[in-house]
Amino acid sequence: MFHRIFIANRGEIAVRIIRACRELEIETVAVYSTADAHALHVQLATQSVCIGPARAAESYLNLSALLTAALETGCDAVHPGYGFLSENPEFAELCEKCDLRFIGPSGAVIRQMGNKAAARALMRRHGVPVVPGSDGPVPDAQTAAAIAAEIGYPVLIKASAGGGGRGMRRAYAPEELPTLFAAAQAEAAACFGNGELYVEKLIVNPRHIEFQILADRQGHVIHLGERDCSVQRKNQKLIEESPSRALDAGLRARMGEAAVAAARAAGYQSAGTVEFVLDQDGSFYFIEMNTRIQVEHPVTEMVTGVDLLREQIRIAAGLPLGLTQEQVCQSGCAMECRINAEDPRAGFRPAPGRTEFLHLPGGPGVRVDTALFPGYELPPYYDSLAAKLIVHAPTRLECIRRMRRALEELIIQGYPTTADLAHLILYHPDFVKGRYDTGFLEQHLDELLAWDCKA
Ligand code: ADP
Repeated sequence: MFHRIFIANRGEIAVRIIRACRELEIETVAVYSTADAHALHVQLATQSVCIGPARAAESYLNLSALLTAALETGCDAVHPGYGFLSENPEFAELCEKCDLRFIGPSGAVIRQMGNKAAARALMRRHGVPVVPGSDGPVPDAQTAAAIAAEIGYPVLIKASAGGGGRGMRRAYAPEELPTLFAAAQAEAAACFGNGELYVEKLIVNPRHIEFQILADRQGHVIHLGERDCSVQRKNQKLIEESPSRALDAGLRARMGEAAVAAARAAGYQSAGTVEFVLDQDGSFYFIEMNTRIQVEHPVTEMVTGVDLLREQIRIAAGLPLGLTQEQVCQSGCAMECRINAEDPRAGFRPAPGRTEFLHLPGGPGVRVDTALFPGYELPPYYDSLAAKLIVHAPTRLECIRRMRRALEELIIQGYPTTADLAHLILYHPDFVKGRYDTGFLEQHLDELLAWDCKA
């Protein structure tokens, strides 16, 4: 097992990694930018190193500063968390070259899955269902139009290097395709330094269902069930739950098998997630594989009782999986609300600030993953996730009730958050019935905000 793990990240995920390491009796080295000198992860780690100024490009994305710090502090492994360099194949390869075990899959696997057009092609070759669309990247709007004519409108233009819902455009008719293609290309080039695009059929209001995978270095691959992440704003997840109301045991088994087949096709090792869209007719399609731990991983931890960070670290150390597929059982229901420092009344504009007052909920079945503390100033340089509120209960209705009361206990003063909106969603009849899809929030946002009597 590792002696000292270097954490190339910040915020709540750095704290989550430190917690797993402490339970495994592994020392931790935290890194921080000058904006994060007083952050919680810095206070909790065994030791810490400043790696640069506030701008992520000069600190959390600075490969050489990170590698130098990891080597100088005598670490034997690197945990990248999510975001930042977690899906950067060069970083994974450089770590291994420096004799630092990268806690994740190999650079080659990250590279292949990071190009979504290439990942689609690989999955198709291995019999994993993919959304009908282009065979690979599409060079220009004309080719995209020809493919769209073949598969039928509406279509989704997507960036091969895309992530976080960016570089995507929906086209409903041939005449709007050229403009949307150019816009997607420009956004992809600006966000990812790669303007390559591909085309998929737009599945109208699907559910976003993803499967958690664990794969060890001995060739065992298992899935830990699904997370339904259909409550999204601007293609970004807001509430996640497991199990999904849209799956029965048969569909769960078939999707789980497809997820395991996808991970095997990729030659995957580590914790990862296979994402699908589920059509209203019960057809499901692979959309991408995330080669890292995800924000919403606690949902799976709560229903399966498996510590995913612990498993991920053990796998990287060469240990076999601690459980078999047959030993995985989903018990009860779990939900997560992402509490972002954003203003839902202003288009979810990030609104970080000083945490003037903080009260976190507790009691049975409640978990809060956060790096907040009273007086903490959320820096404006990074993502707007302030806290994750996760609850677990025997039934879905109890889970909803527990989440409502946990949100009622939660007090964050100093900036607007998505907590009130989450609370309103938990009262929406369609959500309560479990009848929602990725179009839910867009359809009901104005109605939900109008419910808020504080407005
Ligand atoms: P990103 O990596 O940017 O998050 P994804 O490919 O995971 O991109 O897609 C993000 C979201 O967009 C999905 O959760 C789903 O809601 C929606 N989406 C993706 N592909 C399709 C599709 N072919 N049809 C309908 N919705 C889609």
